[in-house]
Amino acid sequence: SLKITDQCVNCDVCEPVCPNKAISLGREYYEIAPDLCTECVGHHDEPQCVIVCPVECIIPDPEHPESPDALLAKYARLTG
Ligand code: SF4
Ligand code: SF4
Repeated sequence: SLKITDQCVNCDVCEPVCPNKAISLGREYYEIAPDLCTECVGHHDEPQCVIVCPVECIIPDPEHPESPDALLAKYARLTG
């Protein structure tokens, strides 16, 4: 999954573009739920949140590295 760093300015443009509803406002800034983020695999060619973020604060989560196959399997799980 991807993660949002503390550079986030809480602009809220990423939350509505996430196809998996993985983004929400956390205690201080926006957060991505690792169990819901497929890095947009299955929905789009590129991570939509990364495209829209004005401050480029969304990065691969070093604590949740996933292969393309694993992301596709997560997509299949989430969409039933
Ligand atoms: Fe949502 Fe895609 Fe961003 Fe993951 S990469 S949080 S699925 S918009
Ligand atoms: Fe934070 Fe970027 Fe999302 Fe805006 S688009 S809320 S700056 S992560």
